[in-house]
Amino acid sequence: MAENILIVEDQPEVVKVLRYLLNRIPELSAKFCLNMQQANQCADTLLGQYKALLVEYKSLDNPQQLLNSGLPTIVFLEQDLPEVRKQLLSDGAVDVIVKEGLQSYQFALSLMLRLLNNPSHRVLVVDDSATIRRMMCNLLLRHRYQICEAEDGEQALAQVGEYPDISLVITDYQMPNMDGITLVQQLRKQFDEDQLCVIGLSSANDPYLSSNFIKNGANDFLHKPFVNDEFYCRIHQSIERIERVNLIRDMAEKDVLTGLYNRRYFFDHGNDIYQEAKAKQHPLSVAVVDVDFFKKVNDTYGHNVGDEVLQALANTLKAGLDRFLLARTGGEEFFIVMEGMDAAQAELLVDTIRHNMALAPVNTSAGDIRVTFSAGVTDVMQDNLTQALAVADQLLYDAKELGRNQVVRSGCFDMS
Ligand code: GH3
Ligand code: MG
Ligand code: MG
Repeated sequence: MAENILIVEDQPEVVKVLRYLLNRIPELSAKFCLNMQQANQCADTLLGQYKALLVEYKSLDNPQQLLNSGLPTIVFLEQDLPEVRKQLLSDGAVDVIVKEGLQSYQFALSLMLRLLNNPSHRVLVVDDSATIRRMMCNLLLRHRYQICEAEDGEQALAQVGEYPDISLVITDYQMPNMDGITLVQQLRKQFDEDQLCVIGLSSANDPYLSSNFIKNGANDFLHKPFVNDEFYCRIHQSIERIERVNLIRDMAEKDVLTGLYNRRYFFDHGNDIYQEAKAKQHPLSVAVVDVDFFKKVNDTYGHNVGDEVLQALANTLKAGLDRFLLARTGGEEFFIVMEGMDAAQAELLVDTIRHNMALAPVNTSAGDIRVTFSAGVTDVMQDNLTQALAVADQLLYDAKELGRNQVVRSGCFDMS
């Protein structure tokens, strides 16, 4: 995996501990540098590759310049220096961590992992004060979250409709048009606590507001004014909850090797799509894709390389078919439900992917390997999805018989 974080540390024993901890975090791969000069060279030559920097304070000649560089930065301190910590945080450091044994190193790395994952989460900030919104948004941006804003509950509901990637809503209570409690009530009609987290903001002069938020469906609350550390802790806790639930859902619905949907998810959802299209008489095609001579890939290069080929093919299919329900349903077999497509359109799309795949070899650890696939496509409506797939499978068989590396669709051999 390409290195994605930079660590500036010159003490060998600290490097050793960090390397040991990093071995247990497969998502992180660190480039270790002895000083900032080395780190700057790396960051310059591999622009954009590094997502975060962990640096020992004494290695910094000019902290301010570094923190303005745009690379989220965590600073290690040998000992707690409150003034230095305060200055670094106000200059834009993500965090300042005192080196206090294993726990502090662990915390630094888990924070780096957060920084890597945070761009996949959007946080909606709801407050009628533009100043407070700006302040919270700046804090969120520093931790690489995507953000959006709303001035009141009504705007917030509209934003939630617009951005499906919102994981967390932070909302004030008193706002024009719709207050924060009503907003939570409305959100809970659409999303449960595991799908969308809500943190209510409550001010010190209303002691019942926080419990009121929670009783109405908020996951958590934050007293205003707050210190940044508490803000981040509450946000991280909520985001981690969403990630844990997503992970469990993925384990149930997705194939571990390729990240595509699995057979069970495919049939659970595919059948509904199929029956709806049938009832409305909308066009719909189903396709079965199967790698050609895949056994030979395994026999020649080994099972691991075979796995790499399957991952590459899955990514290619995902990129070309992202509008449709796509699943890995067997070893080297993929099913697709293509709404709104008749067989000729579906054939064209799948055949374009096939054509590109046949031209560009797959890059694997054993070198470039040329792989092709065959597919069967049908839009002839059957009683159910299973029957339609059986027809597509028969067409796939025809494609194999005809010499592989091709797509066969229903109707293409009709004499009419
Ligand atoms: P055809 O062109 O007729 O489809 O030939 P084929 O060799 O692709 O088909 P066959 O069904 O004979 O072989 C499929 C192979 O896929 C056999 C099996 O070991 C392999 N396979 C199934 N699942 C996996 C997997 O998860 N990883 C790897 N590497 N191989 C797998
Ligand atoms: Mg095959
Ligand atoms: Mg097969």
